[in-house]
Amino acid sequence: MPSIHDLTAIDLVRRRLKIDSYRLRQLRNAFYKKQLPAERALNDLPEPQRASFASEVDFHSLALESRHDSRLDGATKLIFRTAAGLLIETVILRLTTGRTALCVSTQVGCAARCDFCATGKMGIARNLSAAEIVDQLVQANQLLAAEGRSVRNLVFMGMGEPFHNEEQLDKTIGLLTDKACFHLNPKRILISTVGIPAAMVRCARRHPEVRLALSLHSARQDVRRQIMPIADRYGLEELRQALVEVAAIQRHEVMIEYLLLAEVNDAPADALALVDYVRDLPVHINLIPYNPIADAPHLVGSATRQREAFSATLKAAGLPVTTRYSLGADIAAACGQLVRQEHRTETAAASRVS
Ligand code: SAH
Repeated sequence: MPSIHDLTAIDLVRRRLKIDSYRLRQLRNAFYKKQLPAERALNDLPEPQRASFASEVDFHSLALESRHDSRLDGATKLIFRTAAGLLIETVILRLTTGRTALCVSTQVGCAARCDFCATGKMGIARNLSAAEIVDQLVQANQLLAAEGRSVRNLVFMGMGEPFHNEEQLDKTIGLLTDKACFHLNPKRILISTVGIPAAMVRCARRHPEVRLALSLHSARQDVRRQIMPIADRYGLEELRQALVEVAAIQRHEVMIEYLLLAEVNDAPADALALVDYVRDLPVHINLIPYNPIADAPHLVGSATRQREAFSATLKAAGLPVTTRYSLGADIAAACGQLVRQEHRTETAAASRVS
């Protein structure tokens, strides 16, 4: 059965059922923009063809398994089940500004295996389809409609490495920005990556307005490879070259994410290495306090004083710096905390015991 997001296939269904194209446009408008459930969006189709259309088109690739609302802040974690029975997580972030952001997953698990990230500890990575990625937004928007809210900013910071699922990511961006679908402003989409140089440049070329965030976490190769195994594959020099190319294509800043870990990457020398690394690049530094995860008891977040000193060094060098405060810590929805125990591989589980 074709997904509602497969625009070409759906157009064929429409023709076969002899539905006027403006009716389908109305349905899409109701489903994508007015955040209405499929049953109500279907009301835009004429009576005789409505039931056939409904039975031939798949409106949802995911089933909502459970919902967890934070008692501390405006975060809500949604757990979805894929048709294959895998569980993924999506986080709604109601910001104090009144705006709403959604953090979506692109994979079940992650192959990057960063030492500080719970998803990486799952030890597997299975790609989600564009329909599965997009359905996270559809369903979040349907829930938010009851609150008079809709998702304004979309961040690819959930489970998985977006550029390890490049083809489906690309399709997803197409659907998000398509006038016939969500028609989201590409500037409000932020893709966060462990840093895959060629894919970053390709993305900037294809979607020059979509924002990129690079999880750098250290500007010293030996330190970075210690916490991010992917650094062995793509060194800092190659990554910097990609930033130069991205900057030449896009006319806005790349976000540099920097997780602050005590005694790992938070010394004055680390701050100076970062200043050197981003010199003459249009970047914005986002410092991230570490959200502890059970699988990395050896890692501790930097103390506030250390973090402030680090930030001051960057600011003194003229760099724009902000600090990220994650929402949803009480429901394990903060950055790096998304994990599904049930999908761990045995090796990942074993390494946890040893
Ligand atoms: N794979 C992508 C997107 C997912 S992670 C990436 O790595 O960028 C989104 C952000 O959360 C990344 O910057 C990541 O490094 C950060 N993160 C991971 N684990 C974290 C933790 N325990 N505490 C705080 N931030 C974390």
